[in-house]
Amino acid sequence: MNQLLSTPAKIELRHVTHLYVSTSRAFMAVRDINLRVEEGEFICLVGPSGCGKTTLLSLIAGLEKPTAGKVLIEGASVQGTSRQVGYMLQQDYLFNWRTIEENVFLGLDIQGIRNKETEDYALHLLAEMELADVRHSYPAQLSGGMRQRVALVRTLACQPDILLLDEPFSALDYQTKLKLEDLIFSALRRHKKTAILVTHDLSESIAMGDRIYILARNPGRINSEVAVPAEIRSALPFDARNLPGFQDLFHQVWKEMEVVSDATKGN
Ligand code: ADP
Ligand code: MG
Repeated sequence: MNQLLSTPAKIELRHVTHLYVSTSRAFMAVRDINLRVEEGEFICLVGPSGCGKTTLLSLIAGLEKPTAGKVLIEGASVQGTSRQVGYMLQQDYLFNWRTIEENVFLGLDIQGIRNKETEDYALHLLAEMELADVRHSYPAQLSGGMRQRVALVRTLACQPDILLLDEPFSALDYQTKLKLEDLIFSALRRHKKTAILVTHDLSESIAMGDRIYILARNPGRINSEVAVPAEIRSALPFDARNLPGFQDLFHQVWKEMEVVSDATKGN
């Protein structure tokens, strides 16, 4: 058999359906999701609110178990959370009474891997994210963009090879967001991470992603998939926005979004 074909994907969802069940009702959040993410790929999920983007990340992170279907990482079924997967949320969840450095080391503590070597690595990441000067400051002294960088360093410090990012830029002002996109994009490339980014910003999804999945809701499902051409993929997000072809792609994704928004109007 062809060697390439038999290599398991970094992340694979096979016919994944997930219901949230309470005593009074069962709600189908996503239905029959199939997706494949190869090692080192940067994937974006876009779609209207409630289409199951966060649910998909929670399933991949092992925080939820699919009602039906399979979530596989490197061909093995996901069984709960693991160090291999880092999850970063929109809110940074920094502890205000701990210094930046102590917030970053917290991830190492929780994973039980805090030692001189991992601390040094975390400090190296802080420097890389231009945060070396604030290591002894407290979260309240930092801007929103800096806090998100700290949260990213805390996640990266545990050396996950998969990064799940749930709207990490959505609470930031536009300029900060553009700068942070470039910084995170380069850091994830440099460290050869596989990443899934949830965003409601279509231009961000094109500027950052290798491929974009557009989801529809009720129930959450994949409506379409858009591949980003090599030239746009290889440019930094800020520069990508000025490349020929970017606007055309934006209109294509925009149209796909119109379809999924129209389909769910009135719900
Ligand atoms: P998105 O991130 O795309 O906005 P979510 O994955 O958060 O969507 O939610 C998908 C659907 O599942 C929504 O209709 C939401 O209300 C529902 N949902 C999410 N979490 C829960 C939960 N814990 N219990 C019940 N329903 C939920
Ligand atoms: Mg969400």
